[in-house]
Formats: sequence, structure tokens, C-alpha cells
Amino acid sequence: MRFPGLDRLYRLFSHDVGIDLGTANTLVYVKGHGIVIVEPSIVAVNTKTGRLVAIGADAKQMVGRTPAHLEIVRPLVDGVISNFEVTEEILAYFLKRVARLEPRKFFRPQVVIGVPSGITNVEVRAVRDATRQAGARAVHVVEEPMAAAIGIRLAVREPVGNLIVDIGGGTADIAVISLGGIVRSKNLRLAGDRLNRDIIAYVRDEFKILLGEKTAEEVKIAIGSVWKQPAPLEATIRGRDLVTGLPKEAVITDADVKEAIGLSVSSLVEAVKEVLESTPPEVVSDIMHQGIILAGGGALLGGLGELLAHELKIPVTIADDPLTAVVRGAGIILENLEAHRDILLPDEDELPR
Ligand code: ADP
Ligand code: MG
Repeated sequence: MRFPGLDRLYRLFSHDVGIDLGTANTLVYVKGHGIVIVEPSIVAVNTKTGRLVAIGADAKQMVGRTPAHLEIVRPLVDGVISNFEVTEEILAYFLKRVARLEPRKFFRPQVVIGVPSGITNVEVRAVRDATRQAGARAVHVVEEPMAAAIGIRLAVREPVGNLIVDIGGGTADIAVISLGGIVRSKNLRLAGDRLNRDIIAYVRDEFKILLGEKTAEEVKIAIGSVWKQPAPLEATIRGRDLVTGLPKEAVITDADVKEAIGLSVSSLVEAVKEVLESTPPEVVSDIMHQGIILAGGGALLGGLGELLAHELKIPVTIADDPLTAVVRGAGIILENLEAHRDILLPDEDELPR
């Protein structure tokens, strides 16, 4: 039984919050404020006391520089919660920051949160529980590719198929959406982090230099490309010489990076192909017409759009501001929750029995 009066009070005196809890970045949208938090999904834990010493950007600063008693923890591995307590603490910390925006909003917030497509019910429940225990009054779960599609303002309810490829840090979500639902999808455990590791392996083998994770990511973002460049791009890398053990510098080009990440990128293209192959022909014809849409930070990899378009013979568009597509979608859902109930994942606790 719901009380309309109580609902009105909640609307006046609580925040509505949209969260994209990504493997690489967590973003928070607050109704009436927009996107208020963008932080890496990383914490630093003191292994002696078990306490969190840093969260988000502060913790990312520490990557590769931690003394023995500090451990860097990424609470999401392969898109699902691998460390429940830490996830809950991060969410609680962000919700507290949100609460400070308007202190008179003293009720606990209502939250829309994204999860990768195709995760198990148990994994979805873990996200719900962590969000509730972090202080949410109600938790609504949406699959990330659906949230991204809504964030990009695709007409997800039309009888027209769209293919979204959301490439994050730990996972890539490939999903075909039509009539308000996900028709086909594939969740790959291959995304931005893997490309960083590819670069580390390549530089170790070819240059005999040991690179840190952060440096590898910087190189990828600065000069990474999987398509021909009009002029070669270069970056200077610094790491440890594997022979002498001393610091060493070298110049790496976009051609090196392309070779380093080539196999992983081919696997990604193959996975998109497989999803297309299992998609009903009518919908494939829609996609050929509408084009493939890239979202997530990986969408910004140089030349990925061109490569996919060339390999699949389908036009490709990169979403505007691809890193925020999911949280913008969560925000749009929040603005009119009732109208979006049909695309949320069902809450088993609330199902009629
Ligand atoms: P998640 O949803 O898993 O948190 P994001 O959508 O936030 O992931 O994307 C993070 C990933 O995007 C990281 O692996 C990062 O290296 C990558 N990324 C961000 N910007 C770029 C860029 N310009 N080129 C290539 N990769 C990028
Ligand atoms: Mg994401």
C-alpha cells in the first residue's frame, strides 16, 4: 500500500540520484543538479586496519606508488561486484556527498543504478543490496546499454533496432535494443584495461622496458589509434629498463600501439560481428540503416569507429560525451520514473507472488 501524501513528502525532501557504477569510473547524477560526481572506481585500503584511506581520484593518484601497508582495490571486476564491503562504502561516501548539496532533503534518496547487461540475478541483487545498505531508500536497476541508449536519446521503444557498443574499463557491452528491450547482447570481459595491459606487454617485449599501468593508459589515450593516421603520432615513455634495472626513456609511435592492441581490438570486432549474426534479419537491416553507436570511454580510442565501419560495412557513430551516456540515461529515467518502469530490471522482492 502506498500513500500519495508520503510520496509527495519524499519528492520534496529527498534527492533522486542516478549512478553509473563502472569498472573504471563512477558517475553520479542528482535531479535538479546534473552530473555532480565523476570519480575513478578505486579505493586505497590500509591492510593493517582494514580502513579506507582514499576514494576515487585521491586513490587513483596512489596507483603504482603504494607502500606495503596500502592496497589499491577496484571493487568491480568484470563489471560485477567483487568486493561488497568496499562497493557499499564507496556508494555510501558518494551518497553522503550528494546529501550535502541540499541539507533540508533529509530523507534517504531514491536511486537508479546501472548494471552490465546479462549479469546473473545474484549479481543484480548484490548491487541492489549494496546500494540499499549505502543509504538508498529505493533502488531501481537498469541495464547499462539501455541506460546509454536513453542517455543518447535513441527512441528505444520504437520498433526499430539499434546496436550499442559500450566499451568501459573492465567490460564491453554489445547490445541490440528494440521495442524497449534488449533483443541480443554480449558482455565481453575485454575493454580498456586489457588494452593497457597489451601496451605493457608490448613495451616489455619490444623495448625491454617495464611500464606502469597508469603510463600505459596515458599512452593509449594520447596516441592510441587502430586506423591509419595522416602523420605518425609519438609519445615518450618512461619506465624501468628490464636489463639494467635503471630508469629508461623511449619513443613509442601510434603504429606500436596499434600492433600492441591489435589482437584485442580484433576480438572486439569479432564479438560485435557475432552479435549481429545472431540478430533477426529485420533488426539487422534497421542497424545497417541506423548505424552502430559507440559509448563508454573506449569509444574515444582513435580510429575505432572507422575500423568497425570498415570491417562490418555498417556506419558507426560515436555518442556525444560517451563517458557520461549511462549516467545521463539514469538521470532521464529518474526525471520520469513511472514512464520508465517497463525498462527497469524487475525487483524479485517486489514481484507479485
Ligand atoms: P567503465 O564504464 O567501465 O567505468 P568508462 O566508460 O568510464 O568505463 O571508460 C573507461 C575506459 O575508457 C578506460 O579504460 C580508459 O582508459 C578508456 N578511455 C578513456 N578515454 C579514452 C581515449 N581517449 N582513448 C582510448 N581509451 C580511453
Ligand atoms: Mg560503463
